Amino acid sequence: MKIGENQEKLPCLIGLSQKEIQAVLGERSDASMRSKQLAWHLYRRHETNLQAMGDLPQALRDELELCFRTHPLETAVRKQSTDGVDKLLVHRGDNQVFECVLLPYEDRVSCCLSSQVGCPMGCKFCATGLGGFQRNLDVSEIVGQYLMLQQLSERRISHVVFMGMGEPLLNLPNLIKAMRILHDEVGLSYRHITVSTVGIVPQIEKLAEEKLPIHLALSLHSPLDEVRDRLMPVNHRWPVQEVFNAMREYQQATGRKITLEYLLIRDVTDTPDQAKALAKLIRGVPNVVNLIPFNYVDTEQGFARPTRQAVRQFRQILEQAGVNVSERMERGHDIAAACGQLAGQHTGRIMNRASVADLPVAR
Ligand code: SAH
Ligand code: SF4
Repeated sequence: MKIGENQEKLPCLIGLSQKEIQAVLGERSDASMRSKQLAWHLYRRHETNLQAMGDLPQALRDELELCFRTHPLETAVRKQSTDGVDKLLVHRGDNQVFECVLLPYEDRVSCCLSSQVGCPMGCKFCATGLGGFQRNLDVSEIVGQYLMLQQLSERRISHVVFMGMGEPLLNLPNLIKAMRILHDEVGLSYRHITVSTVGIVPQIEKLAEEKLPIHLALSLHSPLDEVRDRLMPVNHRWPVQEVFNAMREYQQATGRKITLEYLLIRDVTDTPDQAKALAKLIRGVPNVVNLIPFNYVDTEQGFARPTRQAVRQFRQILEQAGVNVSERMERGHDIAAACGQLAGQHTGRIMNRASVADLPVAR
């Protein structure tokens, strides 16, 4: 449904907890029951048409329809991949687009959500970083991405990763509230939610205080300050050891393993000396290292995908040192479903499909 001109200005029911919906219903004697019905329709049945909520009195449906929206987002572009990946470029009627992706696997269905429109962190390899920062997403827009993808999916989406556009920890209050709604109202397990961060130390500490049993993944990308400095401006403020210590504290507070995302860029981050330094850094800490081959984005840095040989060698060095390694399964290549790419494509910043296809992993 298209968000109408007047509709756009109405407050949105999506993003409210059942208790908040109850407060919205005010003094009605049946507010508690009605709010539970509404929350069930919105979050469990993914029903956005108030008139289709047959167990609510007609007068209430009409009243709600006049005062509230149930569609926080509309779709600008939908791309379906041959491997089942479905990617949406969405906005709230203002043409500030952001993306979310449905990722079906054999054993589960996952989705990748955005936390901001654009990103202020300026990482040198990232299409989102290239485009600059527009604004934080509100709770309705974060939860709305999940619900839109769920409407497209025949199977229940059981896992959420915040690896779309933006730095989630820069939008912490909205992120936390959205995760609570995904847990309390939608029924997701916190253990199936992963937040990926560039490594903002005070925000990692704040998140730890919430004691939510979610996964926190650090985008490390190099164990060496001189390399990480060049790739990620955030490293000047919170260098490797400092951010790693914050992750250790987070790990101790939550009991979860430390998850590190590691981007392999040819001859920049994929070298054996960095594999060894990484193994040394995480020795003795329960860990997972997720290797991500660089997805080609022309950021004018001359970055290239790693050779298969380099990936193998990097992995071997880590494994021999007892590190738990996984390689990110690459999905949705034909629709540029990797991080930041579709929005980049939309604004003409990244290479088109044909040229991406010309860049297979070198052998
Ligand atoms: N801002 C957060 C989460 C969004 S980015 C973060 O940086 O962690 C999600 C992941 O995509 C991060 O690990 C990021 O480093 C990675 N990424 C960004 N650009 C990429 C590219 N061109 N190829 C592969 N991964 C990329
Ligand atoms: Fe922002 Fe993450 Fe991209 Fe860095 S990698 S610019 S933090 S979205």
